[in-house]
Amino acid sequence: MSEKIIMKNPVVEIDGDEMTRILWAEIKKELLSPYVTLLTDYYDLGLPHRDETDDKVTADAGAAIKKHRVGVKCATITPNEQRVEDYHLKQMWKSPNATIRAILDGTVFREPILVNCVRPAVRNWERPITIARHAYGDVYKAAEYRVPGAGRAELVFTDAGGTETWRETVCDFEGPGVLQGMHNKDDSIKSFAHACFRFALDKKQDLWFSTKDTISKQYDQTFKNLFQVIYETEYKSAFEQAGITYFYTLIDDAVARVIRSEGGFVWACKNYDGDVMSDMVSTAFGSLAMMTSVLVSPDGCFEYEAAHGTVTRHYYRHLKGEETSTNPIATIFAWSGALRKRGELDGDEALTRFADRLEAASLQTIESGLMTRDLAGLCEGLTPTILNTADFLRAIRARLDTQNS
Ligand code: NAP
Ligand code: MG
Repeated sequence: MSEKIIMKNPVVEIDGDEMTRILWAEIKKELLSPYVTLLTDYYDLGLPHRDETDDKVTADAGAAIKKHRVGVKCATITPNEQRVEDYHLKQMWKSPNATIRAILDGTVFREPILVNCVRPAVRNWERPITIARHAYGDVYKAAEYRVPGAGRAELVFTDAGGTETWRETVCDFEGPGVLQGMHNKDDSIKSFAHACFRFALDKKQDLWFSTKDTISKQYDQTFKNLFQVIYETEYKSAFEQAGITYFYTLIDDAVARVIRSEGGFVWACKNYDGDVMSDMVSTAFGSLAMMTSVLVSPDGCFEYEAAHGTVTRHYYRHLKGEETSTNPIATIFAWSGALRKRGELDGDEALTRFADRLEAASLQTIESGLMTRDLAGLCEGLTPTILNTADFLRAIRARLDTQNS
């Protein structure tokens, strides 16, 4: 076996909760530490430690990614009322992902991991579709309330000097209802656009973008126009050279075209569209456990994670001493993504190559018929052997060792 790789710079390691926390430790032990002397800046975002630190650890982890530029994150619990009770929390801490996204002001790219024995539900999809989700504003940062009864709702803008410069009636209510005010910022939309154009160039894939600008003539139109101007002034020639295209269409037209497509492109979506469409696309490609996610900030920081959550149901079975067959692939790919990016930034070819080998060994293991339960049900063309998580990781390690020798 070749010598262990020594890393030149650290990746920010963000630990998490429940079943994925268990996977995290096992992946490090079986698939990383034997091959790489891991250099990490470690933050424990397990819920008890977030509570102990009044969630300061989450902000610290975000700041560390800004410093080191590459992070890898385990899935974490976003507390709800039930979790506040179960964990005796001081308060209902915010989603760590939202906190880190706010610090990095990034765009989230979600890409399915394809294996040849799992066919997408959409038969004509041959290549992955990456969803680029704008991760700032709109309904996720809206002011809203229930309207108690009759009255007028207005949209008012007061400029920085204190002068009211805009007032428009939203609705003259005759009775109770609901009201919401959303916003976005040109700066955030522009950095979203840059992140998408750069990512598409990096991947050498077409970029699609969709909004509802025919209905939303100021709000969505702004997204459309900013993308168009940035494309024409800064990316058009690079796209032409790379042989890729930028394509804008209405969101409903985009949905229809995506279904009829062969895949193999990046689909940029507004925040809500990206939230919804990424779950649809990942499910149609096979399984949420086969979806990676990377947050890319405008200043070039990268945070890799699995798209799924902490797999609570499996964790409770694990706590009862039962064997689980939880799929570690997306978490492995979060690590390989982070190590590859670290290798690229540091000019460390050995590390980049290890990331490639780890991914190849993982996919080959599945394609040889050894897999976790979630995939066995989707698998076609071979008889799958269902392994528990630990045995599946050992099978991947055996493949890695064969490649290594
Ligand atoms: P989840 O953890 O993604 O799990 C939902 C279901 O999907 C599981 O019960 C399991 O189905 C299946 N699944 C997901 N990942 C799998 C894997 N790796 N292997 C096998 N099956 C897998 O979502 P959730 O139950 O809605 O959320 C649980 C917790 O995760 C919540 O506290 C939530 O706040 C948190 N969460 C965190 C993140 C994040 O940190 N990025 C994202 C989403 C949710 P079966 O039980 O049918 O096998
Ligand atoms: Mg969602």
